[in-house]
Amino acid sequence: MDFETVIGLEVHAQMLTDTKIFCGCSTKFGATPNSHTCPVCLGMPGVLPVLNKKVVEFAMKMALATNCEINKSCEFARKNYFYPDLPKGYQISQYAYPLAEHGHVILDVNGKQKTIGITRIHMEEDAGKLLHDEHNPVSYVDLNRTGVPLIEIVSEPDMRSPEEAADYLKRLHEILVYLEICDGNMEEGSFRCDANVSIRPRGQKEFGTRAELKNMNSFRNVQRALEYEIKRQQYLVESGGTVVQETRLWDDAQGATNSMRSKEEAHDYRYFPDPDLVPILVDEQWIEDVRNSLPELPLAKRERFIKEYQIPEYDAGVLTADKALANYYEEVVKLCAQPKVASNWIMGDLMRFLNEDKRDICECPMTAQSLADMIKLIEEGTISGKMAKEVVEDMYKTGKSPQNIIEEKGLVQITDEGELVKTITAIIEGNPAQVTEYRGGKEKVFGFFVGQVMKATQGKANPKLVNDLLKKMLAG
Ligand code: ADP
Ligand code: MG
Ligand code: ZN
Repeated sequence: MDFETVIGLEVHAQMLTDTKIFCGCSTKFGATPNSHTCPVCLGMPGVLPVLNKKVVEFAMKMALATNCEINKSCEFARKNYFYPDLPKGYQISQYAYPLAEHGHVILDVNGKQKTIGITRIHMEEDAGKLLHDEHNPVSYVDLNRTGVPLIEIVSEPDMRSPEEAADYLKRLHEILVYLEICDGNMEEGSFRCDANVSIRPRGQKEFGTRAELKNMNSFRNVQRALEYEIKRQQYLVESGGTVVQETRLWDDAQGATNSMRSKEEAHDYRYFPDPDLVPILVDEQWIEDVRNSLPELPLAKRERFIKEYQIPEYDAGVLTADKALANYYEEVVKLCAQPKVASNWIMGDLMRFLNEDKRDICECPMTAQSLADMIKLIEEGTISGKMAKEVVEDMYKTGKSPQNIIEEKGLVQITDEGELVKTITAIIEGNPAQVTEYRGGKEKVFGFFVGQVMKATQGKANPKLVNDLLKKMLAG
């Protein structure tokens, strides 16, 4: 049977505020368990939450960056359930009246643009963390994370393949990091995704029954979990079974999803408006102020790079995937005025060094000025492209300027014609047999002479100059 896949994603992103959403406790990751807590986030009786305005502003930034409409009035609701990581017995979230709705992001999959709808974006608080001891029958509760601000971004069921889902996630992630409202760290859980997936016979209008997948902590795992789940559902249907609506957990080691709970066991959250918090009213002026504060977004930057620097789409995609990298690139181009050459050095050598060291561009010892200077030194013929490979590695390791390294290593290219003529004359005189062969029409011997000159100059001769001189002098 020919099936079509339908995917909708729910993304939780932790907002990069200093303090929690309803109290003044720190949001810093990795502190001593339960040290970032107070009566409000511990859910003590009689305390009152006070909304952190910055969370609303950050959520509004994301809403505008994803083309959502911001509701003039929205409110918080209590989502009731019992679990040890939730001291109040309910999570403050938004339900009937979310902050923003009806947005979209644009994907670029295999050169084709596709629009993915965003159903809604709402604000909520995070729950705490349970730590289980592998060797003892005990569990610990760390409430540092309770009350840390999140936004949830719910997509329409618009994606049709795991690749599209992964691309959508990367686009959202990129926008959040560009906006500087989320650190995007998937391992620490600052960016988490639940994936809803169903299949239907191709051509059928109605959606199939979906499974919700949880517990994937990287883009790759989201894609792997979806691929596994699609195969599982297809196999099930083809062998006469039916897909049931359920939540399934991804097991990374096993490379499979396993049922966690079915729809029958699903919670009834008994949502109702939180009486402790007043509705949030957003006026046109506030929306405009936030809109004016938005930086250039990844898609716009990509398009500008292609136009302004005349670099391939691929280069623009790589360079703008990280805002700091894009800034570094622009700095280099501003200083050396060679956009494609700069892109090659950054995407090739520099990114390889950074990957090997698991370093961020912000921690790169080689300054944009140094890289630009090196590019200029190649253009002027002071060093060859081959020498530059050595120089760039040194620049990266030591943070020294290219001029410094070239001097230290005596790497300056020989561009002095007189000096090269002397060397070539000696080589021609020393190899009469090869000269005769070349003049007799055996052009391959030319390479021998180039090799000899390079050897005599320890590879420092300007290759183009060597070529030109040899051609002239060998002609007799
Ligand atoms: P819930 O509140 O139970 O999580 P929602 O209706 O809010 O359910 O949908 C959650 C996500 O599931 C959304 O991203 C939506 O696009 C997606 N979704 C809904 N129906 C399907 C389906 N049949 N197949 C795949 N994804 C779906
Ligand atoms: Mg859900
Ligand atoms: Zn607190």
